[in-house]
Amino acid sequence: MKNIVIFGAPGSGKGTQSALLVEKYGFKHISTGDVLRNEIAGGSELGKTARTYIDDGKLIPDELMIEILASVYDGLGQTEGVIFDGFPRTIPQAEALKEMLAKRGGQVDAMLELDVPEAMLVERLVERGKTSGRADDNEATIRKRLDVYTRQTAPLIDWYEHEGKRHAVKGYGSLEEINAALCAVIDAL
Ligand code: ATP
Ligand code: MG
Repeated sequence: MKNIVIFGAPGSGKGTQSALLVEKYGFKHISTGDVLRNEIAGGSELGKTARTYIDDGKLIPDELMIEILASVYDGLGQTEGVIFDGFPRTIPQAEALKEMLAKRGGQVDAMLELDVPEAMLVERLVERGKTSGRADDNEATIRKRLDVYTRQTAPLIDWYEHEGKRHAVKGYGSLEEINAALCAVIDAL
């Protein structure tokens, strides 16, 4: 079974590309953003807590996020592989993921990095905000999220490089082109 991390800034296309990979390989997809938004929609206590962070463009605290991730992962059942989308977002989360998978006899097989210039990210997210209904897709919160990405999440690029797992691909151009670049990495694993 393969464990694949899809990585990139907000708006880099992680969700879109994950859906294409799910279709092609039959992998299961864990999007922590989707998990949290479902909790918010369901009005759970967890959702109420998550909302205060998300609407402010901040990250949910590591300890809570790690616990959520493990419970979703263990609930997946049999699968060819898992795509982690939106997790890890911090170095402690990456360390926790490594430990969690090791305990279950696995590892992260690849980190697929979507590289997109910042100006393009802002443009995409502002555009998405017009229809997404997401409270965090407005320009001020987008800038904050990109800043959080640069400070807390981008250090994972070196972390995964050091682990020998990092594969960077161009995250703009046609969806098919990007998908083909990701599939080439997966097929070579
Ligand atoms: P993309 O557009 O590439 O799918 P995104 O950054 O727009 O990515 P999500 O991944 O859906 O959006 O995450 C939305 C919000 O949920 C984050 O801004 C953060 O507040 C919270 N969140 C999601 N994953 C994590 C995580 N691993 N750790 C902490 N907070 C998280
Ligand atoms: Mg997403």
